[in-house]
Amino acid sequence: MPKHIFVTGGVASSLGKGLTGSSLGRLLKMRGLRVTMQKLDPYINIDPGTMNPFEHGEVFVTDDGGETDLDLGHYERFIDEPLSRNSNATTGSIYQAVLAAERRGDYLGKTVQVIPHITDEIKRRIKRLATDDVDVVITEVGGTVGDIEILPFLEAIRQFRKEVGRDNVCYVHVTLVPFIGPSGEQKTKPTQHSVTELRSRGIQPDVIVCRSEEPLSLNLKRKISNLCDVDERAVVNAADARNIYELPLILHDEGLDVVVCEVLKIDAPLDMSPWEKVVAKVEAAQTPVKIGLIGKYVDLQDAYLSVAESLRHAGFQHGAKVEIDWIQAEEVEGLLAAGRLADLDGMVIPGGFGTRGIEGKIAAAQYSREELLPCLGLCLGMQVMTIEFARHVLGMVDANSTEFDTTTHYPVIDLMVAQRDISDKGGTMRLGAYYAVLTPGSKVHQAYGEAVVSERHRHRYEFNSNYRNRFEASGFLCSGTSPDKRLVEFIELVDHPFWVGTQAHPEFKSRPDRAHPLFRDLIAAALQHRAQRTSADVHPADFGVPAETPIVA
Ligand code: GLN
Repeated sequence: MPKHIFVTGGVASSLGKGLTGSSLGRLLKMRGLRVTMQKLDPYINIDPGTMNPFEHGEVFVTDDGGETDLDLGHYERFIDEPLSRNSNATTGSIYQAVLAAERRGDYLGKTVQVIPHITDEIKRRIKRLATDDVDVVITEVGGTVGDIEILPFLEAIRQFRKEVGRDNVCYVHVTLVPFIGPSGEQKTKPTQHSVTELRSRGIQPDVIVCRSEEPLSLNLKRKISNLCDVDERAVVNAADARNIYELPLILHDEGLDVVVCEVLKIDAPLDMSPWEKVVAKVEAAQTPVKIGLIGKYVDLQDAYLSVAESLRHAGFQHGAKVEIDWIQAEEVEGLLAAGRLADLDGMVIPGGFGTRGIEGKIAAAQYSREELLPCLGLCLGMQVMTIEFARHVLGMVDANSTEFDTTTHYPVIDLMVAQRDISDKGGTMRLGAYYAVLTPGSKVHQAYGEAVVSERHRHRYEFNSNYRNRFEASGFLCSGTSPDKRLVEFIELVDHPFWVGTQAHPEFKSRPDRAHPLFRDLIAAALQHRAQRTSADVHPADFGVPAETPIVA
């Protein structure tokens, strides 16, 4: 029977529960265990698909088309297992299921209540991941202990241990130990309060993970151990790390996985070496390279979390430290006029929705094409590159996407797939993994090294295939299409070092030890560009290091 780990958080939000759970998942995987993860979110939206990226950061898309919380991106990057829509449940989706059952009459006339009906549905969501091919299920409970809306989740996970047995459940509570300036001390009181709150819900944590800026002293750990009634070894300190990928090593040094395995009666030897190699690569990646990220939501960098991580992964593989220049799309024209993009080595135009910032993204695409600056367009980014090429090379002056201009004479981006009723804004997009067939000899084909690839999608609009011949006659190659050739999946310029766009979101499949091929080749081209740009004072051998094989087989 699979074991369960529940990760809760106290004191403050954004403490890194997701990263803590993910790191623990990685440590257990390195003990040869089969791990899966999920997030329970106390908000009422059915899924994060309809939420503004400014509010909630990126929507992470799974292979099966789930629009999920960005923490699932951390999970996949750390445990390197594909997750599904079942790995994210919100209060809204739980109530939706219970209300549908109530309407069907499934409750046989009973009064439908939070306890037991909502809590039973929460437990069902947890159990459905506990399949035969899994040894450990890690469940992160979103929000903070003490929130009103978290109560049914805490009650459900409390009941869970009773149902599946003591040895099969471990509760990990993540808290903050703040440093209070005037007294010059780290304070344990918030941790005590949040553990008291958790205990008032019937849950005694097995492990407390204390986030702190500076390392905790043994004395403080002892104090937390005494006051919160956990073993001294089970007070684990996660002091701020140099980079997130170091976290599994830090938590292992603190004994987290050892204590968790003791609680769960797991006896499996650990082999840390694969991850130590990853971290060594991360730390050795020092050659500077600067990539402009031309976005609409750049004020909240979490809106582009997977894109930023993919750029970093690509850097690791080339020994390069990627500096991201977060560029507000609406400001591009002004920045270009001031020559402020001249120090970029490459550019990413990521996905997005809505008209704001589109003209700036088009200007950025034009600049990268004309200046031979490496550019990778993701989803909307690829659409923008198409519009730019149509306007400035093919002379289609008002070319546009019908998302932004329904009266354009040249709808080079349009709805290609019959749309369902879009008054329901949830799930009306082309979502999840789709295959593409790549054109032999194209840059994209060379990057992937495979003829058929699968990538995740989240969009409504597409390259308008009616224009394909006109584009291809001018050096704009549609280098990948859907297997039935109806939809264009990849585009690139023949006479450009790297001007590549994809209708998909490859950023969801990049891993720290296995950079995504398109990001890897973008950074390779960017390093070349930098070498040329600064050729007076550098040695070319420092740059353009050929792509390496993955660190972990
Ligand atoms: N807004 C565009 C579409 O719906 C692109 C979406 C995206 O970038 N994810 O097709």
